[in-house]
Amino acid sequence: MPATTPSALWRAPLPPDLDARLARWLADGLAAAGAPRRVAVFCRADDVGVPGRSFERLVEIFERHRAPLGLAVVPAWLTAARWAKLETLTRGGAGLWCWHQHGWRHCNHETAGKKQEFGPARPPARLAADLRRGRERLEALMGPTFFPAFTPPWNRCSAEALALLQHSGYRAVSRSAGSRPPAPPGLPELAVNLDLHTRREPTAESAWQGLRDDLQAAIATGRCGIMIHHRRMNAAAAAFLDALLTALAAHGGFDLVAMPELAESDRRSHNGRAR
Ligand SMILES: [Zn+2]
Repeated sequence: MPATTPSALWRAPLPPDLDARLARWLADGLAAAGAPRRVAVFCRADDVGVPGRSFERLVEIFERHRAPLGLAVVPAWLTAARWAKLETLTRGGAGLWCWHQHGWRHCNHETAGKKQEFGPARPPARLAADLRRGRERLEALMGPTFFPAFTPPWNRCSAEALALLQHSGYRAVSRSAGSRPPAPPGLPELAVNLDLHTRREPTAESAWQGLRDDLQAAIATGRCGIMIHHRRMNAAAAAFLDALLTALAAHGGFDLVAMPELAESDRRSHNGRAR
C-alpha cells in the first residue's frame, strides 16, 4: 500500500496568517493570469477503499463546504463490507461524490523508471484484464453510483492503456498536467496540477513556496485540479484544506466543479471544435 507519512509541509505549524495568505495567493494568481474568465476547480482524492478516521475527516470537510470531490477507489481494496461502511459515511453528502476507478490493486509493474500499474512494461492484454476486472468489481459493488472515469496510480499510464480506456467508453482519465502522450480524442483529460499531500520539498518553507507557485500556475491555465491523499493528512493538512476551500468560495472567481460535469463540458467543447 502507498506510504502514509505526512510531507514536510504539514509537519510544521501552519502560518498564523494562513487565511490572509491564501486570499492573497488567489487574488494575485488571478491578477497575474490576467484571466477575465472564471477558474474551474476540481478536487480528487486517491487511494480510497478502506474506511477509517482519515477518510471520515476528508468527507466531513467536503460535506461542510458542500464541495464536490472525486474519489478514486482501488478496486482490489474494496469489499462489500467496506463499501457499506463508505456509503454510510458519505450519506450526508449525497450528490457531491464522484466514485471512480483507481488502478486495480495499486501495484507497480515497471522494472525501471517511474512507478506505474498501467505502464509500458505490461502487454495490452494484461492492462485490459486489470481494467476490466477493476471496473466490474466497482460496478458490482456500487451499482449506478460508479462513474466510469479512470485515475491511473501515480498519475501515469501508457498509450495502450489510454486507447483501452477510450475503446471501453470511459468518460474521463485523470493524470498529472502535461502527461504524455495526450489522451486520445473522445477521452476528456481532467489533469491535476496541485498536489497537497505527496510533495517532495525537504522543508516546510520550500514547500510553501512550491505550493503557492503551483497554485498560481494552475490558476493561469484556467483550471485547477487538486490532488488529495487523505491517508497522508494530519490535523495541519486538514486545517489547510478547510481554509483553502473557504478561500476559494470567498473569492468569488472560482467554481468548484464535479468531475463528471467537467468531463461532459470538455467532451461537448471538443465536439463543438471538431464540427
Ligand atoms: Zn494512488
